[in-house]
Amino acid sequence: MIQMANITKAFGKHEVLKGINLTVKKGEVVCILGPSGSGKTTLLRCINYLEKPNQGEVSIGDFTINCKRPSKQDIHTLRKKTAMVFQHYNLFKHKTVLENVMEGLVIVQKQSKDIARQTSIQMLEKVGLGSKLDAYPSQLSGGQQQRVGIARALALNPEVILFDEPTSALDPELVGEVLEVIQKIAKEGITMIVVTHEMGFAREVSNHVVFMDQGVIVEEGRPQDIFSDAKEERTRQFLKRIT
Ligand code: ATP
Repeated sequence: MIQMANITKAFGKHEVLKGINLTVKKGEVVCILGPSGSGKTTLLRCINYLEKPNQGEVSIGDFTINCKRPSKQDIHTLRKKTAMVFQHYNLFKHKTVLENVMEGLVIVQKQSKDIARQTSIQMLEKVGLGSKLDAYPSQLSGGQQQRVGIARALALNPEVILFDEPTSALDPELVGEVLEVIQKIAKEGITMIVVTHEMGFAREVSNHVVFMDQGVIVEEGRPQDIFSDAKEERTRQFLKRIT
């Protein structure tokens, strides 16, 4: 289980998260929706301390970090429990597909190269890239590069995968292949938190939808309830505009 308790975050005077409380159960796929600038990405990045919250607590499993005075070791422990899939893939351009996936296993997790290679190949096969092991990112489409990003996250075997708008940098015709891969791994029971503007995906794949606006969680619930019977006017207006 993942919990955020009373998380606040400001950039200068701009309060971007205003006391976020969020619980994500093991195996759940949670989609975070909301208008641009509402704080979705910041919230996601606070979970693994890519952004440091100003206050509050983040727990993953039985490990809790208090955001006031975390040690470097605490942050390292928290990060090891998560993996992130970025909007712009963040692959190493001068490494092959296979090397990109192996990197974290060898360098961070200190696995042997043989074991790391085996796991990485399995994960690349899972995302449909078994034939691209020796390619470089520049030789791949955006959709394929993002699937490498997903294989890299899966290989780390984290307690949660954090997806930060995984399809928003893609040409429209490449969005489907990436969403299909995410849907496939969602079925395997991996806990996932997905910031997305893809309403169809949120509706079909998630177990839980969180709607944010202006740094607060306005409403959350099952997708079938949020999409057809949102309680809050702000949620209804947003969904009307976007769907
Ligand atoms: P989008 O859907 O457009 O990606 P979002 O809901 O994910 O938006 P965030 O990216 O979390 O929103 O940004 C929330 C607010 O915080 C925005 O006003 C943004 O400009 C601001 N912000 C985010 N990161 C920083 C930063 N590093 N420094 C200053 N301001 C920031």
